[in-house]
Amino acid sequence: MSYIKEFIVSPGGKVQLNKIDPSYTDKHESHETASPHIQEHLKRMSQLQYLLYADADQSLLVVLQALDAGGKDGVIRHLFSGMNPQGTKVFGFKQPSKDEATHDFLWRAHLRVPSKGDITIFNRSYYEDVLVVRVHNLVEKKIWSKRYDLINDFEKILSNNGTRIIKFLLYISPEEQLERFKQRLDDPSRNWKISDADYSERELWPKYIEAYQEALERTSTHHAPWFVIPANHKWFRDLAISEIITDTLEEMGLKLPSTHVNMDDIRNKYHAAEQGQSINANGKTEKKSG
Ligand code: ATP
Ligand code: MG
Repeated sequence: MSYIKEFIVSPGGKVQLNKIDPSYTDKHESHETASPHIQEHLKRMSQLQYLLYADADQSLLVVLQALDAGGKDGVIRHLFSGMNPQGTKVFGFKQPSKDEATHDFLWRAHLRVPSKGDITIFNRSYYEDVLVVRVHNLVEKKIWSKRYDLINDFEKILSNNGTRIIKFLLYISPEEQLERFKQRLDDPSRNWKISDADYSERELWPKYIEAYQEALERTSTHHAPWFVIPANHKWFRDLAISEIITDTLEEMGLKLPSTHVNMDDIRNKYHAAEQGQSINANGKTEKKSG
């Protein structure tokens, strides 16, 4: 079964995250057996990105969400480093700035959605406005509870404009999170990644799971599906996400655009230039003067 089918949150369906095993690795036992598949996907992704960029008719938005230390940065590093930077953008969403906070919650995201031909990755996203905002009561329930429908409408607008949207929850266990915090503590080069808030947020795990479940149930749609990716094993996470992105790009029917110029004319000009001649207004070759 493809990972699109295996990990998609069926639109309108129920989600029970505790039924999902974050350590799942399918038929793979180790990074070694998964690695050739990941490499194959990365190669294909890069070819498809070339077509997306050349065609400049559609775009792809990849939303990455996770609890702390879920591996969003790793996905971006491993899966997008081989892409052409010209058609790829990454935006991280942190606490809204003063300016951002004076607008509606979708404003800062709308400013950064991909242009035609581009792939854009959101490292966190407008979903924080129904996750951290809900868990910490940053706005009243009567405000955040309306946001699911607003998000669906927003994603519909993007989709109608040629943007494919795929959304990933990188799902790790609390034990794996603690282990990753420990690595950040033990490794001086990763100390900067740890914060007090990581430990206090961890206590709110059940509230985050509840918030994620509702977000997944209410906003997984045909035009913007959610995928829950077992992410305790980083290599399996990368395998599943790279396959889903590749298959999505394949489904988009990308092709090189037809040329807007007469190729025979251009070829004739090229040959004439090669022989030191030019083509006059009547289409005849003549010796270049001077
Ligand atoms: P890591 O997972 O590696 O720790 P990170 O994505 O958590 O990386 P941080 O700079 O640690 O990066 O955290 C960004 C913070 O901004 C998160 O705690 C997130 O919940 C918060 N944030 C994002 N959007 C909003 C929002 N709309 N309102 C309030 N907080 C937000
Ligand atoms: Mg953090």
